[in-house]
Amino acid sequence: MKSKLTDPIEKYREVRNTIDKHVSALEKKHNKHMVCRKGCDLCCMDYSILPVEFYSVLKDLKSRNFTPEKNNQDSENGCVFLVNHACTIYAERPMICRTHGLPLIFANDDGEFELSACELNFTSFDFDDFDMDNTFHQDKYNSMLFMVNREFINASEDKKFGELDLIPLKELAKHFIK
Ligand code: SF4
Repeated sequence: MKSKLTDPIEKYREVRNTIDKHVSALEKKHNKHMVCRKGCDLCCMDYSILPVEFYSVLKDLKSRNFTPEKNNQDSENGCVFLVNHACTIYAERPMICRTHGLPLIFANDDGEFELSACELNFTSFDFDDFDMDNTFHQDKYNSMLFMVNREFINASEDKKFGELDLIPLKELAKHFIK
């Protein structure tokens, strides 16, 4: 994709940094209850991501001359970047992957708050003790991403994407197939 996209991509990275800080604070807070570690891939699947995120990750991977390793997924829904139960794009992984394992709060289709937490974590944590201070507010960050993505789409010359378009992660891998 051509043209003045640097700015929205920089903004995307700012949002990503903000998310990383929040995630890190929550991980410290829940350190006793989170068993997330390299080798656990329960949350990994072929996610679809916003165009601004797609092109930002693509740019980062190209700048470090990323070479895909042979993927050993046998499931169609598996993430193409998962190799031997480990993420091969960990530093560049999309936002959704950065929140894996955390207690997430979001509004469901009925407009009610819902909580989602990994089944392997928080096994001895009373879910009634989750509150707005110790959970990740997914909608807040999704709104920030949506706004940055809108700028990205409006700045693109080819107008290839609409605001609601998402691109599967497996499409990202295709850019590196020689
Ligand atoms: S990008 Fe990495 S963390 Fe995200 S689903 Fe794929 S393998 Fe898992």
